[in-house]
Amino acid sequence: MKIGFIGLGIMGKPMVRNLLKAGHEVIVYDIIPANVEDAVKSGAVAAASAKNVAEQCKTIITMLPNSPHVKTVVMGEGGVLEGAQEGSTLIDMSSIAPAASQEVSKACAAKGVKMLDAPVSGGEPKAIDGTMSVMVGGDKALFDKNYDLLKTMGGSVVYCGPIGAGNTTKLANQIVVACNIAACAEAFTLARKSGVDPAVVFQAIRGGLAGSTVMDAKVPMMLDGNFKPGFKIDLHIKDLNNALETGHTFGSPLPLTAEVMEMMQTLHADGRGQEDHSSLANYYAKVSGTKIGK
Ligand code: NAD
Repeated sequence: MKIGFIGLGIMGKPMVRNLLKAGHEVIVYDIIPANVEDAVKSGAVAAASAKNVAEQCKTIITMLPNSPHVKTVVMGEGGVLEGAQEGSTLIDMSSIAPAASQEVSKACAAKGVKMLDAPVSGGEPKAIDGTMSVMVGGDKALFDKNYDLLKTMGGSVVYCGPIGAGNTTKLANQIVVACNIAACAEAFTLARKSGVDPAVVFQAIRGGLAGSTVMDAKVPMMLDGNFKPGFKIDLHIKDLNNALETGHTFGSPLPLTAEVMEMMQTLHADGRGQEDHSSLANYYAKVSGTKIGK
């Protein structure tokens, strides 16, 4: 199958490689020429613009930072909808606001283009392995038609509901991850501050009810003082912004999310926006005067 792919960053690059490995022809575009060159070296073919990708492919995947980027690439000048053929499918795999997915989908429908929102979780390692979790919103028949394609990039591909439901699911994921990391940072700082070895506390509680995938992935980073991303604080701020906006729209208060958002804003102001989100430990180091690890 001929697939268009726009947005060749940390996630997009390995996703393109997995599509190529599965035997698809992939036509790519990014505003950063080095990212295009990288994909071309893997076997993809470069297009001149987002419009040019859409002119060549009836299935187009986007993997961009946030809502404004997706709106520009799809609805803007030289964008997907200027080149798209009627009956084409847009699969937006970026993590954006659910309301933005619905807005872009409406613009697509006006041109006879169908759309799924299909954000992912799992980060770069799972993008490389093709084992990401994919959460999909849109028409169920369109989901079924594209299931095998999404499976070439994801270990789990779950239909969540109408357009925007994929991104609502992703926001739920990001809230749980953020609050869980903050809780770990708070708890392990208390252990250190009160003189109990946090590494021992980790071994004692990780197998019980408090244990989680987040604890297993992030507490060792806090113990090592290693905040190399992973998933950056600035990207998580973007997701929590979308969560708060969505919560306010629907009258669903998010007090825990708001609290963790301010911790992340503090880290951003301290120049730690490019660090992994486990750097929430550095917020607690700042307010307690005690580091969990090294
Ligand atoms: P990234 O910043 O590495 O890549 C985004 C790419 O989009 C860049 O190459 C950029 O040049 C390109 N781009 C931006 N504007 C463009 C435009 N107008 N036209 C063409 N290309 C354009 O981001 P990423 O880490 O690959 O993340 C992509 C999405 O996936 C985000 O929504 C992010 O929240 C989500 N996500 C990321 C991770 C992760 O661990 N990095 C995990 C899960 C989900």
